[in-house]
Amino acid sequence: MKSLYDFNYDQMSEMALEHGWKKFRGHQIFQWLYRKRVTSIDEMSDLSKDTREVLKQNYDLKPLTLRDKQVSSDGTTKYLFALEDGSLIESVLMQFDYGKSICVTSQVGCNMSCAFCASGLTKKKRNLTSGEMVSQVLYVQKDLDEKNDRLSHIVVMGTGEPFDNYENVMNFLSTVNHDRGLGIGARHITISTCGVVPKIMEFSKEHTQYNLAISLHAPNNELRDKLMPINHAYPLEELMKAVHYYASENNRRLTFEYILLKGVNDKKEHVKQLAKLLKGINAYVNLIPYNSVDEKGFKGVDHEQAMVFYDALMKEGVRCTIRKEHGADIDAACGQLRVKHLRKERKGN
Ligand code: SAH
Repeated sequence: MKSLYDFNYDQMSEMALEHGWKKFRGHQIFQWLYRKRVTSIDEMSDLSKDTREVLKQNYDLKPLTLRDKQVSSDGTTKYLFALEDGSLIESVLMQFDYGKSICVTSQVGCNMSCAFCASGLTKKKRNLTSGEMVSQVLYVQKDLDEKNDRLSHIVVMGTGEPFDNYENVMNFLSTVNHDRGLGIGARHITISTCGVVPKIMEFSKEHTQYNLAISLHAPNNELRDKLMPINHAYPLEELMKAVHYYASENNRRLTFEYILLKGVNDKKEHVKQLAKLLKGINAYVNLIPYNSVDEKGFKGVDHEQAMVFYDALMKEGVRCTIRKEHGADIDAACGQLRVKHLRKERKGN
């Protein structure tokens, strides 16, 4: 059964028309879900009993079941949810000076197999529906409601490759961005991709105000082939062509993510190559401290080494920042909470 959270604002109006109702019904349902944040169809009290019955026969509000919640000393909160089919997913709430941000999961598992990443330890089981992504945001927002607080930012950087689940991700973002939905500003929303070139092209043409982040992690094909298998399908030349296309279509600054892996991509030559690759692009590099993943065997650099790389890159004229670590004391690495639970389940406790 489809969830009511699967419909964005326009689709909700279409759904109302398909049932022979006025378009306005769709608007009302949308308001109930996102303004009043009801948890059952019966609470939609300005709809007639008949209308509610039809809704109940055709749709549900598939809830996420909370399986675990961990709060770090810096306020970072990790939520482990079970979906209706029992799949486990993770969402993370992070606190910044500028507000509160949620990191949303877009797939159960991931097929991109990046060498350093915990998410790919389990292959993709399926795409998340739009409703399942909306529900992550709503759940965390309801938690914040109790403190009279609100989510101001969204990053689609949890488990999964958002551009391998393009349509659902775009639908989901349209719902949470809509001013009758959660009203989270498009410029406060970031989608991160490992470099699915055809989807970067498609995204470029949509001219949304969402921010785009590209997981680069290596400045040459030889190294990127080793770290990110997607590079075999879309090598750096292709990726950079798509990046230039994005820049020509959108007057927006791009982010390049670059995890500093000790002895792997942190040398002087990499700084030079990176500067050459990004020359002339309105972009900045986000240097990411590596959260080590037991199974992967990579090490991150310490803060001093990160500063050396940062200074060298700035000297080359590339704007960059070092990402602040969040929730280091609660298995901060992306996807680690889920992996921990899967391991536990395998052991049978
Ligand atoms: N598939 C998308 C989004 C999910 S990953 C992408 O690749 O962009 C979000 C970011 O976290 C990516 O830049 C990813 O490379 C990075 N990441 C993955 N594992 C990490 C780890 N153990 N420590 C730090 N960053 C990691």
